[in-house]
Amino acid sequence: MAMELVHDTAYLLRQKESGETSQIVHLFTKKSGRVIVIAKGARQPKSHFSGYFQPFSELAVQYYYKEGRPYHFLSKIEFQTLRLPLLQAHKSALYGMILLEMADKTAEASPDEGLYELMSDSFTRLNEIGAVPEAIHCHFILRFLENHGLGLNLDACAACGEALYDAAVSERDAHLLCPRCYGGHAARIFLSAAELNILRDPFGGKNAIFQREVINLNHHLWQILGLHFDRLQRLNTIETMGKILE
Ligand SMILES: [Zn+2]
Repeated sequence: MAMELVHDTAYLLRQKESGETSQIVHLFTKKSGRVIVIAKGARQPKSHFSGYFQPFSELAVQYYYKEGRPYHFLSKIEFQTLRLPLLQAHKSALYGMILLEMADKTAEASPDEGLYELMSDSFTRLNEIGAVPEAIHCHFILRFLENHGLGLNLDACAACGEALYDAAVSERDAHLLCPRCYGGHAARIFLSAAELNILRDPFGGKNAIFQREVINLNHHLWQILGLHFDRLQRLNTIETMGKILE
């Protein structure tokens, strides 16, 4: 079967060295989801690939696709949307790395434009001056769950339908329950009224107290992710961030 030249845009998920001078690169592409390419000679000083394997910036790629191959041949790469300030902003970059690790651990070799758009939107927000990365991260996880058909109903108890003031998270299906339906015992994951309000409007507040609340809330959201995705129970980037920021 003939090789087909594919044009796409992509984010870098991860990379590793291959042979003397080449690089194997996992891309999350808009049209095909995860695509693994080999960049021949990428580690040679004058390679036309060098300098482009950056996280967060959107890449325009061309590669030769051949069915049944474990990886395809990268032929061209350019920046589509450059987001360099994000690389310099320490905290935003750490939050950005969590998003990339989540995508890396869940992305399949099939299109997921919902996740692609969510990544573009989140990296753009993280790259803005005055960005609140904690809130952007919270927003990302909510949309990530929705994209998998696992969105949280923030307004009504999943059992009785009553309006939620605060909520316990069911460990069976990660649905939100009113404390009465959850039963008397303490829930491992409990969302306070203030936290539920942040979830309803993650970009609503900007002060320091708000930021602290969102950090706590993000811990709860990571627990909820862990209920749904075994692969997301341990995120290396979160452990790294814990060591650096706390
Ligand atoms: Zn209820």
